[in-house]
Amino acid sequence: MKCFSHSDTDAVANCIRCGCGICQECVTNTQYQIDNKPLCTKCNYEVGCENDAIFKSVLKSKKIKFVIFAVTFLLGLIVLFTNLNSEYGNASAVIGMLFCWGLGFIGNFFDKQPDNRSVKAQTKEAMLEIKHPISSLVGKIFGFFILAVSSPIQIVLLYIGISKVKKQIAENEAIVNNLRN
Ligand SMILES: [Zn+2]
Ligand SMILES: [Zn+2]
Repeated sequence: MKCFSHSDTDAVANCIRCGCGICQECVTNTQYQIDNKPLCTKCNYEVGCENDAIFKSVLKSKKIKFVIFAVTFLLGLIVLFTNLNSEYGNASAVIGMLFCWGLGFIGNFFDKQPDNRSVKAQTKEAMLEIKHPISSLVGKIFGFFILAVSSPIQIVLLYIGISKVKKQIAENEAIVNNLRN
């Protein structure tokens, strides 16, 4: 069998994705692997394009979450500062702020691609805290406010996550552009 891209060179392996023959040069130059196995030039390009689409949808969901967290965070601060020293007392101002911060977690519903493990792990931990000891309403409210306190951390983690995905997209784009030539 000959190589799919180099018709006068003998194939040394098969593309794991489409099964066509690939030569030693193609094996060495493969940019992507599936199960640690090389791909042909055509599949390299296609996988690169698929990766691009995946990374971009991850970026989009992270940006949506970031906006929701940022808006609810600012809303919380507004609630805090407008209610400090009011007739309801400072405790209610803080609770109001935390309630807004907690609302930021509705952004997690937009997370189809949970790749930010630290955020996920923290959420899970907090959810377990709610579920395990007392599965009562009090426990749930308590858990909600625990989550709410971590809102500023979530914003920072999301910001870091967004820059990481942007870097991934840029690196992947460079590979795909090379493959195109
Ligand atoms: Zn292939
Ligand atoms: Zn080849």
